Amino acid sequence: MTEKKKILLSGMQPSGALHLGNYEGALRNWVELQNTGKYEMFNCIVDWHALTSGFESTEQLVPRIYEMAADYISAGLDPEKTAIFVQSQVKEHAELHLLLSMIIPTPWLERVPSYKEKAESLGLDSYGFLGYPLLQSADIIVYRADVVPVGKDQLPHLELTREVVRRFHYLYGDVFPEPQALVTKFQVLPGTDGKKMSKTYGNFIALGDPPDIVKKKVMSMFTDQTKIHKTDPGHPEDCPVYIYRTIYDADLPADLADKCSSGDPSVGCVGCKKALLSALIDYFADFRERREELLADKAQLDAFLESGADRARQRASETMKLVREAMHMFKPEM
Ligand code: ADP
Repeated sequence: MTEKKKILLSGMQPSGALHLGNYEGALRNWVELQNTGKYEMFNCIVDWHALTSGFESTEQLVPRIYEMAADYISAGLDPEKTAIFVQSQVKEHAELHLLLSMIIPTPWLERVPSYKEKAESLGLDSYGFLGYPLLQSADIIVYRADVVPVGKDQLPHLELTREVVRRFHYLYGDVFPEPQALVTKFQVLPGTDGKKMSKTYGNFIALGDPPDIVKKKVMSMFTDQTKIHKTDPGHPEDCPVYIYRTIYDADLPADLADKCSSGDPSVGCVGCKKALLSALIDYFADFRERREELLADKAQLDAFLESGADRARQRASETMKLVREAMHMFKPEM
């Protein structure tokens, strides 16, 4: 007998081309999870979430969605195996969010870690921004998802979802599984300046950057600030160039770290950057080719996103029927 596959929901905001940090922190893991064949996979490009902080400039939203879809597929998410879709194409997310908004006490949202801090630093005070963790809950439970791959920092959000599920069940009876976290161990990838890689800091290397841009970025990377001369001892474990090489350079010499730390003059930062550059260009060569093909053929991308949305809608509409029935709504099947 075949065991029923667990439902897995993952997603990201379409905020532009994906960078190496997004790949190491999320996408690589999603592809691996997909390839285990253990899960029924839904991956949501959460465009409504992008509006919580980006409502003033929406012109870039559509191109960013296409870029994200192209990045996903080029990196190995297979639209046959993972339903890749755009959140706003599945209206059930919005309906469930609205219904959940009736039962959630606002203090639950106000106490979400990072809410106050982010609201203040970004100057955001909208209703949508306060409610975004609840929209996230709706995104997950509308698929009756069993598991959600998250980093540790996302655990409080998932805990909120589990509390909302329990409250719903207490009021109306059981409909949803309580989603479990699949905690991903990943390293926070430094950017080209040594700080956390992020779109916001402009210190990223995008997966789809053409070789000339990768070259500019790599050759101007920070290395070890204390290693001025070749013979100065380096600290490879803190050097972004070395860290990237451990991930992307299949030919990384086993003794490089030792040589760097001991100030062996046979190795130096410029040579190290050149080796990284060529490794990175090779590593993402197929990715870039596939991405270009996809972005040149929007009809194909549209077809993938539509088929993903069809599968998502089917599951979400079954859930909403159960939700409306449980809540004694008018004509639950519609
Ligand atoms: P950004 O900081 O560039 O805006 P996001 O906050 O949109 O990136 O993150 C999207 C996903 O990528 C999240 O799962 C996040 O944990 C992961 N991620 C982002 N930056 C990094 C990084 N430097 N190292 C590892 N994972 C990262």
